[in-house]
Amino acid sequence: MTELGMLLIISGPSGVGKTTIVHHVERQLGGRFSVSMTTRPKSAGDIEGVDYHFVDQVHFKSLRDSGQLLEWAEVFGHSYGTPKAPVVEALTNGKLMILEIDVEGALQVKSKLPEAFAVFLLPPNEKVLLERLRRRQREDEVAIQRRFAKAKHEIARAHACGVYDAFVVNEDLQVAVEQTTTLVKGQRGPSTAN
Ligand code: 5GP
Repeated sequence: MTELGMLLIISGPSGVGKTTIVHHVERQLGGRFSVSMTTRPKSAGDIEGVDYHFVDQVHFKSLRDSGQLLEWAEVFGHSYGTPKAPVVEALTNGKLMILEIDVEGALQVKSKLPEAFAVFLLPPNEKVLLERLRRRQREDEVAIQRRFAKAKHEIARAHACGVYDAFVVNEDLQVAVEQTTTLVKGQRGPSTAN
């Protein structure tokens, strides 16, 4: 039987552990991670072509205006977008493609590809989320409070927008990964391996 490709969208607020979960799911299910384009500055630990493709505003606009992005959004004043070609290629070849994108991006992808499966990751509660944001020690308190406010807004929007097929609470990493992989396997069916 021909393997079916699958598009998996993973969203969640800053500090929920999205990237860690995405990479576990990618490894366990043999998926491919979609490397986004972004105009945000590269931070320590970011690897060009692995975490993001770092581009300037002019380059980003030309990709967007020539239809090379599947979706795009402004997050914290920077542009982020999903290159279309690798997604089409992966799906054509029966692969699992994983997009780590925000709610705005998920809305755009679902309107174009309704068969995409969208998971929103939640923190156990707001207090834990704020603690996690502080523990990252990446930013000052003003920036942390801004991310916290945005996170609460994003969670409310995710519930209200009707785009997400599932909500997974990341209280324990292993459990959250297990729940996500089980959901994906259930969605793809038994005949698909990766
Ligand atoms: P960060 O800069 O912290 O890596 O990501 C900031 C936010 O942008 C996160 O919510 C992340 O999911 C989102 N994001 C990353 N890449 C994309 C993308 O290609 N499209 C959209 N819409 N959002 C993205």
